[in-house]
Amino acid sequence: MHPPANQIEKTRAIVLRVIPYSQTSHIVNWLTANSGTLATLVKGASRPKSAYLGQYDLFYTCELLYYTRARNHLHMIRECSPIHARPQLRVEWRSAACASYCCDLARRTIPQGVPQRPLYALLESVLELIAHRVATPSILFWYELRFLEQMGLWPRLDSCVSCGRTVPANPGSLSFDTAGGGVVCKACVRSRALTPIGMGADILALLRAWQGTEDPKAALRVRCSDGQARQIDQILGGTMTYHLDLEMAARRIALRMLTFTPQTLNRKRQTSPSSTV
Ligand SMILES: [Zn+2]
Repeated sequence: MHPPANQIEKTRAIVLRVIPYSQTSHIVNWLTANSGTLATLVKGASRPKSAYLGQYDLFYTCELLYYTRARNHLHMIRECSPIHARPQLRVEWRSAACASYCCDLARRTIPQGVPQRPLYALLESVLELIAHRVATPSILFWYELRFLEQMGLWPRLDSCVSCGRTVPANPGSLSFDTAGGGVVCKACVRSRALTPIGMGADILALLRAWQGTEDPKAALRVRCSDGQARQIDQILGGTMTYHLDLEMAARRIALRMLTFTPQTLNRKRQTSPSSTV
């Protein structure tokens, strides 16, 4: 529900995107604590004496005051001051790539004007963590699992999504059905001609560990190998694409950076000539 037009609203808000508008203005997309996502016009933002200089930038948490506008959902900023600037996200490229994806996902999927406090708290907690610690694939996967939970798309890992049979603690190998949104037992894969993604017990254990914690620091301690990251990428990437219908370019870039090491670069250099033949 949108507030009436021309009222003044005050909220904490995270900067998701800043785009230039006309000669000197900006349109800023926010995730707010009180009203979901919203966009504000900042007139004269890039003028040398603008009152808004240094008051907001990507990944900042700010205190935001704005006039509500019913038309075009483009509200007018009145005041803005930074609460957390997170300068490391301008220096540490892995964390910056992860933050870009997390903010992009929020901007594309969270509705305008609808209070979404759990999703706001989730994004705030991830940005705060990766502003102080280098991001890893673990934190990205944990964010996605929590995000899916809040969207009502919590991947089902305890029982088969097709027949409902409980998955044992150590199931050997299993499969994951992205359309069904969870694990699927061998009998159902055979009898229902599904084409799910194969999944070992180690992948199930990792997903369960991330699903089982609300603390991003604990999620960061659950580490996965490059090979495991690729399998989880398939499972969660497939789930996000199928259910949220998103173009996932920011996700691909973030994961490539989070799994990047000089060894992977050398491996690519060594394998690339033969792969082009
Ligand atoms: Zn089944």
